[in-house]
Amino acid sequence: MSYRFPPPQTPAIAISGSDDLFPIRRIFCVGRNYEAHAKEMGVAVDREAPFYFTKSATAFVASGSRVAYPPETSNYHYEMELVVAIGGPAYRIPAEQAESVIFGYACGLDMTRRDLQLKAREQKRPWDTGKDFEESAVIAPIVPASMTGHPVSGTIELRVNGAVKQSSDLGLLIHPVAALVADLSKYYHLQAGDIIFTGTPEGVGPVVAGDRIEGSIENVGTISLDIL
Ligand code: MN
Repeated sequence: MSYRFPPPQTPAIAISGSDDLFPIRRIFCVGRNYEAHAKEMGVAVDREAPFYFTKSATAFVASGSRVAYPPETSNYHYEMELVVAIGGPAYRIPAEQAESVIFGYACGLDMTRRDLQLKAREQKRPWDTGKDFEESAVIAPIVPASMTGHPVSGTIELRVNGAVKQSSDLGLLIHPVAALVADLSKYYHLQAGDIIFTGTPEGVGPVVAGDRIEGSIENVGTISLDIL
């Protein structure tokens, strides 16, 4: 038996200070995890439990890339987020132990076809076409937690063409990283290679061809994306 065509290569993220790559298994994303962003989206804040959507591993694109404006949208949005890279197995892990399975952290952009997402939301349909599309999961090199520790506060910022559009603090996450890992591990057997986008603060907005996005998270790093 052989493959009918070559199996796809596993997308992989650079690791700061290493020649190794971090192969991506699954990409989970958290919705509405900053109160001010939930408000700007016109939805009530839910502090009870986080909710999730996913992106395909093939949606990954590295920081510093130049990407085409995606098809079938006229409202292409940035969402600056802290990304968590899972480094070990976790199933029903308590929040107090969650840090032990986190390999590291990175800056991420959850690029979104907002018009398609909002239409799906209105129609009570899945968000896939709005959220899971080619080059929609932008991730910068991962900084190992062994180097940077586990950030629980610090500035998270995004600029478009040099103008600040998002500026918040990781301390304002409704569900902090350890709680997210614990909660997600109730539903999935998390494994090394799983990625979690932890949600975006307020200030999301559109970009158009020719725009340059730059983001930063204190003690984690920077990210950039050019829209062609
Ligand atoms: Mn997001």
